[in-house]
Amino acid sequence: VDPVIDHRPYNPKILSGPVLTNSPNAVLSKTLLSRYNDLPLPADKILATYIWIDGSGEHLRCKDRTLNFIPKAPKDKLSRILEDYNARAKSNAREWKLKNEVHFLIHYYPKDQEGPSGYESNCSPKNERKNSFDENFSDLPIWNFDGSSTNQADGHNSDTYLVPRAIYKDPFRRGNHILVMCDTYKYNMEPTESNNRISCQEAYDKCKDDEPWFGIEQEYILLDSDLRPFGWPPGGFPPPQGPYYCGVGANKVFARDLVEAHYRCCLYAGVPIAGTNAEVMPSQWEFQVGPSIGVHAGDDLWVARYILHRLAEEYGVIVTFDPKPVQDWNGSGAHTNFSTKKMRNDNGIIEIEKAIDKLSKVHMKHIKVYDPRGGKDNERRLTGLHETASINDFSAGVANRGSSIRIPRSVAEDKKGYLEDRRPASNCDPYSVIDALMRTCILNE
Ligand code: ADP
Ligand code: MN
Ligand code: MN
Ligand code: MN
Ligand code: MN
Repeated sequence: VDPVIDHRPYNPKILSGPVLTNSPNAVLSKTLLSRYNDLPLPADKILATYIWIDGSGEHLRCKDRTLNFIPKAPKDKLSRILEDYNARAKSNAREWKLKNEVHFLIHYYPKDQEGPSGYESNCSPKNERKNSFDENFSDLPIWNFDGSSTNQADGHNSDTYLVPRAIYKDPFRRGNHILVMCDTYKYNMEPTESNNRISCQEAYDKCKDDEPWFGIEQEYILLDSDLRPFGWPPGGFPPPQGPYYCGVGANKVFARDLVEAHYRCCLYAGVPIAGTNAEVMPSQWEFQVGPSIGVHAGDDLWVARYILHRLAEEYGVIVTFDPKPVQDWNGSGAHTNFSTKKMRNDNGIIEIEKAIDKLSKVHMKHIKVYDPRGGKDNERRLTGLHETASINDFSAGVANRGSSIRIPRSVAEDKKGYLEDRRPASNCDPYSVIDALMRTCILNE
């Protein structure tokens, strides 16, 4: 047992950030900004928040820029810029690929529209959600940042590129402003080490016809700025778990306001949230994203995480995706529900069983990419207790929440549907998880 966490109610190592005794954000006025939110901005200015995964493979960074024009032909323009960069960059094997891989997923982004983005059903991602560009708004430059400050480059060659991959409406600024999910490239246009998206995109491109869908259940825990779970009694524990899961009442769930705000912001932005619920540990919550298609499930989840962190800033609480902040209490996972067209068709259960058989043969390979530390994080969580299977064994079962793979009861009855991979940790990179599932179950790699 780790001596540091042995006698303490929480694991002080779970955050890479500073420990404060209280959050300065919590005491700032929450209404002052509204005076300036109303300021009319020049009509041709669009504010774009570029978001990316930093060198930890786990944490997000962002920065904002003003777009001075309302671009016309995003895809072409971007390809041209990219060609430009490629021509200037010195090398190499990735270049041609990158050129071909500038895919944008533009989420619904109707001009002048406020309010929900029009995303429809829970259970059908509306094939491809169309790369429907609204001619009037979108064209995005590649941008760069100082990679030496994010563990993504050396100081002497630190320019790191941000390539826009997916666009969402900005629920904080509203109007025509946008959030832009990017992936990252080194000075020579090689993907950075934590860019797992590119491999995921490659896998998805090879199996698009199978229509892989992913629905990810993101569990997380709210902390106070002293890094103790939010609302827990000072120096001790709340009464044992039991009443909190899907709980209602002021002594059972904490910070529902934040959860509700997140739900609405995501739907507004174009992130298909399927639902949300309070979890087993007090101040632990879950939201589900999807089903989304292929690599886009990763974009959707990362942006949902961004929105959550960003909102929590305003509330002065901290979100942790650490899979096991408190010993002997439920940890957090990112159950990944997965189906292909064949699995969803009649008698798809046969396909589901085939997939499970393939997964059983590469258990450890998957465990290695199901958290950002090669399985180390999941060692703390996948103990065989608290609704988990042991990290060392592969198991599958109908309606069994103590197995690695669960076939939901309804799927067994309908003989078609999807499977649930319960192994990914809450802090997993969904691009890696999805990548592994497509490669094992569809591409037979
Ligand atoms: P649990 O019972 O494990 O708590 P949830 O209701 O929290 O399940 O989450 C189920 C997830 O499965 C949702 O994100 C949903 O969108 C997703 N899902 C439903 N149907 C499919 C499907 N055919 N393929 C992939 N994911 C699916
Ligand atoms: Mn600067
Ligand atoms: Mn769930
Ligand atoms: Mn859950
Ligand atoms: Mn689940």
